[in-house]
Amino acid sequence: MARDFYSDCGLATRGVRAGVRQSPELENSEPIHLTSSFCFESAAQAAAVFAGDADGNIYSRFTNPTVRVFEERLAALEEGEACIATSSGMSAILTTVLGLLASGDHLVSSRSIFGTTTGLLQSLEKFNLHTTFVDLTDLDGWTRAITPRTKLLFIETPSNPLTEIADIRALADLAHAMPDCLLVVDNCFCTPVLQQPLLLGADIVIHSATKYLDGQGRCVGGAIVTSAARIRDKFFPFLRAAGPSLSPFNAWVFLKGLETLKLRMHAHSAAAARIAEWLTRHPAVAQVFYPGLVSHPQFALAQRQQCGFGGVLAFSVRGDRAAAWRVIDGTRLFTITGNLGDTRSIITHPASTTHGRLSAEQRASMGITDSLIRLSVGLEEVDDLIKDLEQALPTN
Ligand SMILES: *Cc1c(COP(=O)(O)O)cnc(C)c1O
Repeated sequence: MARDFYSDCGLATRGVRAGVRQSPELENSEPIHLTSSFCFESAAQAAAVFAGDADGNIYSRFTNPTVRVFEERLAALEEGEACIATSSGMSAILTTVLGLLASGDHLVSSRSIFGTTTGLLQSLEKFNLHTTFVDLTDLDGWTRAITPRTKLLFIETPSNPLTEIADIRALADLAHAMPDCLLVVDNCFCTPVLQQPLLLGADIVIHSATKYLDGQGRCVGGAIVTSAARIRDKFFPFLRAAGPSLSPFNAWVFLKGLETLKLRMHAHSAAAARIAEWLTRHPAVAQVFYPGLVSHPQFALAQRQQCGFGGVLAFSVRGDRAAAWRVIDGTRLFTITGNLGDTRSIITHPASTTHGRLSAEQRASMGITDSLIRLSVGLEEVDDLIKDLEQALPTN
């Protein structure tokens, strides 16, 4: 009911208001329902709710009002019918794969995805679930990799850390040319503010809410947005039985994050664009990777598919790993950590951290060199961030 009303409203309105139902106390800000179980007025009512004949909360592994508000608000932002929240981004991916696939099924995934996702998909080989990894931007490669057993295509766009862009519409068409194949988009980098994959033909959107949805580096969580039927028939039963559930406290933190998501994403994007431009003019910088640069090979696609270029960029410095580490160690304002999507700007050396467990050949095939540095641009004053990079980069 709430969702139907807000579906006519703009994104910022949905981010603030969608999914809310007031309790009899008429609170203005959503309460945290920090309770593991819920009560019934009679044995008969308990029986009806357990049997699914009446609506009602049972147990917070699979029904919690605060979690539900988060699910409805995120579904409204992604223009999806329904959402299920999970304990982490990784458990959202696991729930998607195990909820939909059976032994012998096949996935095709972009090679340029979150390192732990690569590891998870590879570890599913022992359950007879096979993944072929292909280049994100090579449509012919995707076409060649698809077999009659392919049930899922999996992408992140822009990719991490080199910000390559996948053509979501083209990949959705490839998936839908098969009888039973779906396109899954991990929309962590853009969030629904900058990109709405379901409107471009994707079937399932995945989030690590840990990143921009929280936006302040506090809680771990995830979500899946897709059709109501798929949530009801595939993902809810898996969540109920396997239990990768989101804590109501974390759901409440993410709700507060969604209220400022539109403002934050546009601020992150504007700051990252300025820093990317500035870096292209620095003599110590060899190459800058940011989809908002006209020189980015897929600038036109990014412009068509996104309504902003995001807060993550990468650049390579002239020199080797030691040169990159000197820049990282030389910054004072940037935080050295592997996370992203925080108000605090973050600087990362992908080759030795987030992508450090890949083999050197794998990294080379992905273009992740030792001189590459990733920035997640936060919400500090951009001038301060540029000043910090300026004093950390060598003057030559
Ligand atoms: C962090 C991340 C994940 C994993 O999410 P967690 O919440 O850490 O489990 C998945 N995909 C992308 C793109 C990420 O950045």
